[in-house]
Amino acid sequence: MSTTDTIGQPGPDEQPGAEPPRTGRALIVVDVQPTFCEGGALPSPGANDVAVRVGRYVAERRELYDLVVTTQDWHIDPGAHFSEEPDFVDSWPPHGVAGSEEAELHPALGGLSFDAQVKKGQYDAAYSGFEGTDEQGRSLEAILREAGITAVDVVGLVESHCVKDTALDAHRLGWPTRVLSDLTVPVSQELGAQARDEMTAAGVEQAISDLGPEPE
Ligand SMILES: [Zn+2]
Repeated sequence: MSTTDTIGQPGPDEQPGAEPPRTGRALIVVDVQPTFCEGGALPSPGANDVAVRVGRYVAERRELYDLVVTTQDWHIDPGAHFSEEPDFVDSWPPHGVAGSEEAELHPALGGLSFDAQVKKGQYDAAYSGFEGTDEQGRSLEAILREAGITAVDVVGLVESHCVKDTALDAHRLGWPTRVLSDLTVPVSQELGAQARDEMTAAGVEQAISDLGPEPE
């Protein structure tokens, strides 16, 4: 026991440089890649703005999370997921091509550090981040379990597809799961409404972040 403790000096729970308190919560940043943004192969309206907001959220709210994990669509040869004549239901124009610039994480996430980065869809369609693995071959489920995660927030691109499927899987695997609706966007308003209904029916919570509007 120290005899030099003085009021105003850091107590035992607030040592300089100490780890922040654990929250048990993970943030999954789904497919924030230029390929899904305006100017990319498979854009959704408003996606670049979402990328900027997600970048701001990770930078400003990092202490809310024990773990921040990204996912990326990373297609090498995904078979019928790609088509010259896509139906935009089961087949799509080529996007998220492994190694291409627009398959990298969006520049709005530049300078941020992540605890793990998951890639999915190398040889198949993969909408859910739980179908992917990180560089060490760990599944997203294994990454979350190793970190002792007890709740999950999901943000990113796009609400009607990969965000929805990732959130549904997180919930199915037992984690209380929220989608932060102001940090995602659907391919269309109609499919967005359908996706929110489906997630709500399954027990996935729809929430709004405390980020507020973009500064002028
Ligand atoms: Zn894909």
